[in-house]
Amino acid sequence: MFSILIAAITPADRRLLGNLVAPLEEIFSIPVSVGLKHPLDASFSFNVSRNQFSSTMIISELLEMYEDFDGRVLGVTSGDLFVPVLTYVFGEAQLEGKAAVVSYHRLREEFYGLQPNEGLLEVRLLKEAIHELGHTFGLLHCNNYLCVMHSSTVVEEIDLKTDKLCSECRAKFRGSR
Ligand SMILES: [Zn+2]
Ligand SMILES: [Zn+2]
Repeated sequence: MFSILIAAITPADRRLLGNLVAPLEEIFSIPVSVGLKHPLDASFSFNVSRNQFSSTMIISELLEMYEDFDGRVLGVTSGDLFVPVLTYVFGEAQLEGKAAVVSYHRLREEFYGLQPNEGLLEVRLLKEAIHELGHTFGLLHCNNYLCVMHSSTVVEEIDLKTDKLCSECRAKFRGSR
């Protein structure tokens, strides 16, 4: 059965992953579960000179790990992610593909020298999870700044948008299914 699988990438907080299940099921109307396999150790994707993990390499590995899986795979990590042309990314996804990855490294208030805020971290992670999964369903970046498919390069932009697809993106998502 077609479903969405949330795959832990070490180190990742299992509770944070579990909290994504219900809201993702609600927004996509697709069953969601947390990792069938052992958490993926992302050390193979670590770039020593950047002190970051390659999101592209993690996606390739997820594709191999879940080759026989019917649905979408979303890797979640606390590691800081990069793609070569950017300083960092909150996540990366295959457009209309099977796999995506999100990092909550820069979604934590502590990263910015502020007091931890679990509730805010959960909301930010949910938005980025929906966003990257949206790409796997063929959704592109949306100009509507309230739409979850609006591109966010800094955390303030994540806070500004909602955790919902706008009506246009919702219609496109329905059309993709
Ligand atoms: Zn995006
Ligand atoms: Zn939109």
